[in-house]
Amino acid sequence: MLSRRNILATAAAGAMSAATARAASFGDPDQPAEGAVIVTKPKALTDAGPQDPGLAGNEPAFQNPPATDVNGMPQFWTSFNLAPKRIQNGGWARQITSDDFKISSTISGVNMRLGPNGVRELHWHQQAEWAVVTYGNCRITIIDQDGRPQVADVTEGDLWYFPAGLPHSLQGLDPDGTEFVIAFDNGDSSEFNTLLVTDWLAHTPPEVLAKNFSLPIDAFKNIPLHNKWIYQSNVPAPPLATVEAQIAAAAGKPPNPYIFRRADFKPLADTKSGSVRLADSTNFLVSKTIAATVVTIKPGGLRDMHWHPNADEWNYWIKGEGRVTVFNTGPQAITANFHPGDIGYVKKALGHYVENTGDTDLVYMEVFRADRFEEVSLSDWLAHSPIDMVAETLNIDPGLIAQFPKNRPDLVPV
Ligand code: MN
Ligand code: MN
Repeated sequence: MLSRRNILATAAAGAMSAATARAASFGDPDQPAEGAVIVTKPKALTDAGPQDPGLAGNEPAFQNPPATDVNGMPQFWTSFNLAPKRIQNGGWARQITSDDFKISSTISGVNMRLGPNGVRELHWHQQAEWAVVTYGNCRITIIDQDGRPQVADVTEGDLWYFPAGLPHSLQGLDPDGTEFVIAFDNGDSSEFNTLLVTDWLAHTPPEVLAKNFSLPIDAFKNIPLHNKWIYQSNVPAPPLATVEAQIAAAAGKPPNPYIFRRADFKPLADTKSGSVRLADSTNFLVSKTIAATVVTIKPGGLRDMHWHPNADEWNYWIKGEGRVTVFNTGPQAITANFHPGDIGYVKKALGHYVENTGDTDLVYMEVFRADRFEEVSLSDWLAHSPIDMVAETLNIDPGLIAQFPKNRPDLVPV
């Protein structure tokens, strides 16, 4: 690796004109220089200290950052694999909030499993809830502010969105329940302090309950005194049509569904290196505070250098392996490796790329607290700037600049 970098730098310097003599530092521009590539006595690189090889080996980009990195940026990598599970009869959940991951101010993430007929209790909260189903089948219920209920069954790759304050429930279905990932549109949100229907009833004077529901007090004598949060139902979920009939209201159904099907994602980019598919308020109409994409990168492909002008990016890693570098003023740059179950966070407008470093497809989701997805591509911008200005700025032949990928390919090579 070291000698390869030196050879590349030397070759690049030799191939360039006198005007680019400083290219000796190509690939390692920092002052003072950082990176293993400039270490002259290899002993300076060894690490004799206590080791946890499993953990350390997971992040080669931390052990040996690219020489283009400049240390000092806040951590932008974390993982559900690091989060303790809260397990109850019926399922479990774990979360990464801004308490665990300080940079994540706009989004709090929850990973939840509900076994067959495991129920996440009827509840609501002050934040909006967006989710992607990562496994199995799940039944959702919700009612809107005009008294219009919806029940729906969702499956792997489908989404739901519950606006702030609208009450809902979740249930794992046969044959094997469900698993999903929630993004709350507030980094401080916690799955463990939602407003639970059992808590409210237990903490309301019985005579008020009786008056409220127009029933004798006796009707409530067996209500749970503590909340259920997640519980194992002993009653199999009825057919969807049966529940639809049970919950039907004179007010009708919500005008726009609170779920979104995997097949309805809108293709934004499709190249030989992969695809970007979109679900934001332009096609998932109710999703007013969360915009999301599913990105697939083929082996050897790169989600090109870009940024998002309107929101921070919270990303969730589903399949494959990748590497991300985030660029900031300073200049500063930080690189991390990502695996399934990991979470990344890139502040608004900071430059980044995603590289597939494995030999299988890489799939991850970009999630934004925004009503719509927005992106600026570096190559597209430069390809549509005055060519002499770009040539002079970067000291690159105008003929080569004309070959930059145009029209936001998103996945390169095109
Ligand atoms: Mn909820
Ligand atoms: Mn991005």
